[in-house]
Amino acid sequence: MLPPLSTMQTILTESPEIAASILNEGGVVAFPTETVYGLGAAICHPEAIGKIFRAKGRPSDNPLIVHIHDTSALPSVAREIGSDAWKLIEKFFPGPLTLVFRKSPDVPGIVTAGLDTVGVRCPSHPVAHEFLRFACCPVAAPSANISGLPSSTSWEAVRTDLDGKISCILKGGPSDIGLESTIVDCSAEKPILLRTGAITLEQLREIVPEIELASVHDKNEPPKSPGLKYPHYAPSAAIELLLPGDVAGGGPHTAYIGLNAPPPGISTAKTCRDLKEYARELFRFFRQCDDQGIRVIYCELPENRGLGRAIRDRLLRAAGLS
Ligand code: AMP
Ligand code: MG
Repeated sequence: MLPPLSTMQTILTESPEIAASILNEGGVVAFPTETVYGLGAAICHPEAIGKIFRAKGRPSDNPLIVHIHDTSALPSVAREIGSDAWKLIEKFFPGPLTLVFRKSPDVPGIVTAGLDTVGVRCPSHPVAHEFLRFACCPVAAPSANISGLPSSTSWEAVRTDLDGKISCILKGGPSDIGLESTIVDCSAEKPILLRTGAITLEQLREIVPEIELASVHDKNEPPKSPGLKYPHYAPSAAIELLLPGDVAGGGPHTAYIGLNAPPPGISTAKTCRDLKEYARELFRFFRQCDDQGIRVIYCELPENRGLGRAIRDRLLRAAGLS
């Protein structure tokens, strides 16, 4: 067990240039992206990468995604980029898609948790883009939250989890998507969807029809995406999953989020207009419920297609069922 980081002053700024200068000196900087807030360190400062794991309490065998400002930086981190991957890059970069490739020797092993592969993403958020442009090299970043808790979708949530443990928070507005990036493994012959997200399986298959969903993990095999074996997204409140029409026990300290009207007697409810709003609000709502001392959050399970597939994945993990 590593010793805790001593408390440091966390600088708040709206300037991507100031935030990048702190990163370039080996600092750990949280920054806004269109998916969730990231917690970044420059890959050319391996000692700073170690600070990400310590600040989050993240297991060291859970690899980080490398963020680039533009596809021109791709060859510096990844190799053997095949024709299917290029098609996905042309269609979805910059955006909420991470692709896994064989790694370049320039990416330190601490970033990829010793794997021979690396996850790469090019965010579309304008503030992230500026920040990455001012960075001295690509930026390794997991979500900016304490390991196991819901990802941060606002700078205020980052501050709640990480104030005094990181060098800087680059302030931007709330994350537009609210769920982590879709991850596709392009390092083997057949592309595999490792994590669902705002870029849906259906959209991916329009470009590369052969993409398959990762099979359920066989306990005797090492997991394809090591981080996914850990508990994720869990608020302190218990999560109860509801199908539309299910009856929930209401009462004090209960909450509901879903597309349909809440069951009767729920004390705090969020009815979302559509799946996009459900995704955007989910983690913010979990954190709000914890602040209010809610004991049970009833969550409506959307249909298993499109963006609904990604919301279901996060709900099942938050409930400890996946
Ligand atoms: P997060 O902590 O939400 O940013 O998620 C990062 C996740 O990306 C990790 O937990 C892994 O599941 C996945 N990931 C990153 N790099 C790789 C890789 N080289 N191979 C497979 N999955 C990866
Ligand atoms: Mg995370």
